[in-house]
Amino acid sequence: MNSLLALCALLVWWLALRPAPPRLTVTFLDVGQGDAIVVQTPSGQVMAIDAGRSTPEGDEGRRTVVPFLRAQGINRLHGLLLTHPDDDHTGGAASILEQIPVDRLFINGAPSDAPGYRRVLETARRRGAQIVTLARGQRLVFRDGVRAEVLNPPSDLLSDPSSDNEDSLALRIVYGETEFLLTGDAGSEAEEAMLRSGADLRADVLKLGHHGSRTATSERFLEAVRPQAAIVSVGPRNVYGHPHAETMRRLKTRGIPVFRTDRDGAVTVHSDGRILRIVVMASGR
Ligand SMILES: [Zn+2]
Repeated sequence: MNSLLALCALLVWWLALRPAPPRLTVTFLDVGQGDAIVVQTPSGQVMAIDAGRSTPEGDEGRRTVVPFLRAQGINRLHGLLLTHPDDDHTGGAASILEQIPVDRLFINGAPSDAPGYRRVLETARRRGAQIVTLARGQRLVFRDGVRAEVLNPPSDLLSDPSSDNEDSLALRIVYGETEFLLTGDAGSEAEEAMLRSGADLRADVLKLGHHGSRTATSERFLEAVRPQAAIVSVGPRNVYGHPHAETMRRLKTRGIPVFRTDRDGAVTVHSDGRILRIVVMASGR
């Protein structure tokens, strides 16, 4: 009996001391209607993708993203990437830039006169973040073999400034044998352009474009991506009716499980380079 206890104690001790396997963690934060995603590489490089919206009561950078980063012990961002200038993706970015040192601000280069977006760029300059415009064909290389391929927009942009969703930066993040595809608010026009480009779109995890709108996540795109899981970043009872029933049906027909930030709260996906583990946190909203 005693030796069994000793063995158990030894096992617990060994499990406690054994280093955790290196892993990539991608967290889809619950920021209501909007997007905010945090990518943490195995060696601790961190990139935030979008920053949630601003509201009269405050913004999601201050309210959600910065507290999450602090709780994770993150005091510096390798990058803050804004998929496009819309407020539900950039409204919290100035608060992040004010409170956390950011090495680089990645943007899609689409012109925008939105005062909130202009303030983000001014804050980045004042705080010493390097502003970098990305386009299809470029890639961000992190340590540990993590890379992010830029699939959209093309360098000459797709759309006129009145409908800027199609110019969203779309990223395919690759770690070992696992891939994540994050498409901002890209719709079917951008999806067709990505298909035509001939780029490898396969991904295990797809963050649905434009909060699950019927104008994104086309059948042809799903056929090329073939995701094992879909994430929808969306607010409860939002005025747009996102995610649309047609999109949810397209996923259900293919048997793809859906995780929604309005129902599941923050959704975290861990990858050890081979196996994915998805953890959800019940929403506090
Ligand atoms: Zn959006």
